[in-house]
Amino acid sequence: MPELLRAAAAAPMTPNLPPLLQDAAVVVEGEEILAVGTYAGLKAGHSGPVRDLGDVTLAPATFNSHVHLEMCHLLGLTTQGQGFVPWVKSLLAQPLYELDAARVRAELMRLEQRGAAFVADISTHNAAKVGEILASSGLGFASFREVIGNTVPGDASTLLPQVPTVEQGGRGVMSVAGHALYSTTGELLQAAKGFCRERNLPFSLHLAEHTDEDSILLRGESPFLDLLKSRGVLTSYTAPGKRPVPLARDLGLLDEGTLLVHCVTVTEADVADIAASRATVCLCPRSNEHIGVGRAPARAFLDAGVNLCLGTDGLCSNTDLDPYGEVARLLELEPRLDLFRALALVTVNPARYFGRSIPRAARLGTLAPGRLARFSIVPQAVLDICSHR
Ligand SMILES: [Zn+2]
Repeated sequence: MPELLRAAAAAPMTPNLPPLLQDAAVVVEGEEILAVGTYAGLKAGHSGPVRDLGDVTLAPATFNSHVHLEMCHLLGLTTQGQGFVPWVKSLLAQPLYELDAARVRAELMRLEQRGAAFVADISTHNAAKVGEILASSGLGFASFREVIGNTVPGDASTLLPQVPTVEQGGRGVMSVAGHALYSTTGELLQAAKGFCRERNLPFSLHLAEHTDEDSILLRGESPFLDLLKSRGVLTSYTAPGKRPVPLARDLGLLDEGTLLVHCVTVTEADVADIAASRATVCLCPRSNEHIGVGRAPARAFLDAGVNLCLGTDGLCSNTDLDPYGEVARLLELEPRLDLFRALALVTVNPARYFGRSIPRAARLGTLAPGRLARFSIVPQAVLDICSHR
């Protein structure tokens, strides 16, 4: 029997309804939304139970578009605000990839309780295990195995971890991500991207995160490269002589199936290039701040029409995995951003990107008939920031 949920307000995130419906109602049956409107408009035609959620603003369930679950055990163990190299040093001093499965499950449960319905995870060493954990959670997911280095396999399908519990095309997918342009050769990134493109899978890449990345790619010199060389990595590195976005573009990595993560050190021309490629960009404002690498030009991306999302990154550079934490921080950093456009970064925009290849994601992101009955409550802290505009 259909149930009517009543809330003081709702943000349906659909073009045919106001951004913020007052005295809102959503009629749901089972897993599905049947109707969205005002309580006054929907109550007359409804004969089933009514649940009054009270003085809350209802929104679609959220997406965390970039996280590293295999690093959940590193909360509070890295330096803050000192820049990339000190942060990496503090990270490398830890047992980096010792997956704490119980901790990961607990974090996912907490995320779901806070109204998240989808997670995009990057795992370097534990992709199959994290994929299994995600498949057994209630969340939709993209579980990326991150490739790094220079070994291009003869058969690109070996890049994908085999996880029998993941039904391809259902609630989530296993896919492949590239680490970064300096750490992973162009040939390997092209093989991974080509594999994803052929199968209509999402492809993710850390891009333009910090100025060390620019100087490594442009000139083959930076304190970070020195650090890597001292650990026996990239010892015979040759700089391609291009900045991150032009290099990614020239390698053919940018298209509508690609998710570019961070995009902090970008120029106006880079933003235009990314917009023209139709790639999606995932910003991680709290992670960038924690590490101390600067701020991505969120406003410029929005003005250029880029499909923009938000991710928390891992607990090695954040305090929690709640996408609303990113929404709140971005609203503080971008005074001209309104609530509707900020909510889009964790709802309708990631649903557009991940929905290309994951049916579950395509049914999230908005409150509309036929969509999944998965909701979040907009935190009071987020509403308070907007009410002071
Ligand atoms: Zn990351």
